[in-house]
Amino acid sequence: MGLVFKHVTLGQRVLFGSGKAAEHLAAEVARLGAKRVMVMASPSGRALAEKVASGIKVMLWHTEIVMHVPAETAGAARASAAEHDIDLIVCMGGGSTTGLAKAVALVSGIPIIAIPTTYAGSEATNVWGLTEASRKTTGVDDKVLPATVIYDAALTLSLPVDLSVASGLNALAHCVDSMWAPRADPINQALAAEGIRALNQGLPLIKEDPSVVPGREQALYGAYLSAVAFASAGSGMHHKICHVLGGAYNMPHAQTHATVLPYVLAFNTPYAPDAQARIAGAFGTDDAVSGLNALRETLNAPKALKDHGLAEEDIPEAVRLILPAIPASNPRQVTASNLEELLRAAWAGSTPGL
Ligand code: NAD
Repeated sequence: MGLVFKHVTLGQRVLFGSGKAAEHLAAEVARLGAKRVMVMASPSGRALAEKVASGIKVMLWHTEIVMHVPAETAGAARASAAEHDIDLIVCMGGGSTTGLAKAVALVSGIPIIAIPTTYAGSEATNVWGLTEASRKTTGVDDKVLPATVIYDAALTLSLPVDLSVASGLNALAHCVDSMWAPRADPINQALAAEGIRALNQGLPLIKEDPSVVPGREQALYGAYLSAVAFASAGSGMHHKICHVLGGAYNMPHAQTHATVLPYVLAFNTPYAPDAQARIAGAFGTDDAVSGLNALRETLNAPKALKDHGLAEEDIPEAVRLILPAIPASNPRQVTASNLEELLRAAWAGSTPGL
């Protein structure tokens, strides 16, 4: 059979430029004609957000940001937006801040301008997530896709190296999982491969000197590509594992992704020769697993789930929660026993692929 696929590209404006966030934001708010703007930023990110928002009129600041968007936090933000008749949300921060903006947009349809300061990539997807009673629920709705994304690498200079590394590997996980996710196609695979190349170039530069912009630009560009690929391809095995771990055991998002990724890569690539070749090519090597292991070594990446809040006795329950969520598209059949073996290796931090 020839080349046959169905692909959807989400509609969104992207403005990219270091040191240009304030100018881009003022122009976008004017273009959208917004009059009642709510700005979301964490308490620690507020001072920088105030500089970026210096050219717009802000009606309401919202700084109650909590990881994984608990339902009560979303409820409070939704009530504030409704009470003030907000017509535009500007969110500046990591995936938790973007996630809160999406939670408001989901019920109100209020448009979002996202200004990301990590490499999480939520700004370029139509996926929302909420956590209630220790279970993370995600869904897809075009209402939550930010109308505009403003990327400014200068805003990420304050992101500490360890968080930059974990967040960058979270972006790399979007790329890798896009190779075998349920809607994987040649377009999202091409974007994912370019994302891996850019992240593999940018992240070592950040590790070498976190205070300069070029590595940050490559990482942000790679993070955007990774999220576009992920939004189009959907969640693969890796994301299903990390969503359960994040929601059920309150594990930190980026570090969990960074730790689990090499184990999923080593698990699947023997059964996915095309993906293995593409990923290896993007790393500039013959072997995808050694390409990722080499990058992780350079970055001194997070190694073991036991260091990030998972107890060994949680593993059997995690297997039960994850197994039904594994997509049928996964190249290798996943069983309770091989999944438990993968999680035990990731928990202990043994060398992936050996
Ligand atoms: P986060 O937003 O919780 O940020 C992590 C930490 O970094 C926070 O303490 C934050 O204050 C700090 N931080 C952020 N930017 C900074 C900067 N420039 N300088 C200094 N500190 C900074 O974590 P995250 O990893 O960005 O995002 C994780 C969340 O995003 C999870 O809830 C995850 O589920 C969600 N997510 C959603 C999607 C989607 O498509 N819906 C995609 C990826 C991630």
